Amino acid sequence: KGPDPDLVAIAERMATVKHKILILSGKGGVGKSTFSAQLSFALAAMDFQVGLLDIDICGPSIPKMLGLEGQEIHQSNLGWSPVYVESNLGVMSIGFMLPDPDDAVIWRGPRKNALIKQFLKDVDWGELDFLIVDAPPGTSDEHISIVQDLGAASIDGAIIVTTPQQVSLIDVRKEVSFCKKVGVQVLGVVENMSGLRQPMLAASKFLRMTEAGEEKDVTEWVREYVKEKAPELLDIIALNEVFDNSGGGATRMCSEMGVPFLGKVPLDPELCKAAEEGRSCFVDQKSGTSAPALQKIIETL
Ligand code: ADP
Repeated sequence: KGPDPDLVAIAERMATVKHKILILSGKGGVGKSTFSAQLSFALAAMDFQVGLLDIDICGPSIPKMLGLEGQEIHQSNLGWSPVYVESNLGVMSIGFMLPDPDDAVIWRGPRKNALIKQFLKDVDWGELDFLIVDAPPGTSDEHISIVQDLGAASIDGAIIVTTPQQVSLIDVRKEVSFCKKVGVQVLGVVENMSGLRQPMLAASKFLRMTEAGEEKDVTEWVREYVKEKAPELLDIIALNEVFDNSGGGATRMCSEMGVPFLGKVPLDPELCKAAEEGRSCFVDQKSGTSAPALQKIIETL
């Protein structure tokens, strides 16, 4: 029996992709797609060629989040062309192939696997520095498919997104064990929605107004100012934990499991609003409280 022709075609297509990163989460709604999108925009802003592939077949949220609903995939003689949101950031999602965004996709494993194969084989990404794969939550058909099709050895690694809650953390363990079983390196865990810092947002907006568009993180500045002028207010500008974090959150879990902890991203009303409005791009939410945290995570990768 010769080599699987699909796998040969995928390997040929992927020969022009330098790094492949999977974004995983144990549960839905923890911000995996948001992180995938932000990571992609951040890498694109660093002048890398980036592809964002949404393989969440039953719940593709990337098109809505990026304001790309209703876009259709175009075909050329080189394959399916991604939808470009920046000149160096192409997006591909099952969402572009559904006639009605409200359609439920009820597919069994083999059909999902076939579509993922087709994505990997037929999308004309061109030369890419990074392919960011936004996987569905959990560990099911799509995950096994993507690892088998790409080959575990050719995947740089996985980033696991969680919230600080126990219910989400428990499922991170399953993701880590999945990665170990299939031989994909865990690049690390991101704790998303980790605290809320709204008064900071107000302060930074105020400063931006007074400083004529100069962009900077004013968190430290505000803290020092309040400490000096009104120390009794210090606790309201501190990060407020929204979820019970008494178990030590992702930091502790990572050290127990021996995987890197990449950092915390706070709940950011601006980021949420941007996603709702379909303009969830890194540049747009620079003013948000999550951007510096995201940037830091990206730098540690
Ligand atoms: P998942 O991909 O894990 O299902 P999403 O990325 O779709 O999760 O995020 C779920 C919701 O939470 C979205 O409405 C998104 O805008 C919001 N969200 C995600 N991360 C943050 C954050 N750090 N701050 C505020 N809202 C967030």
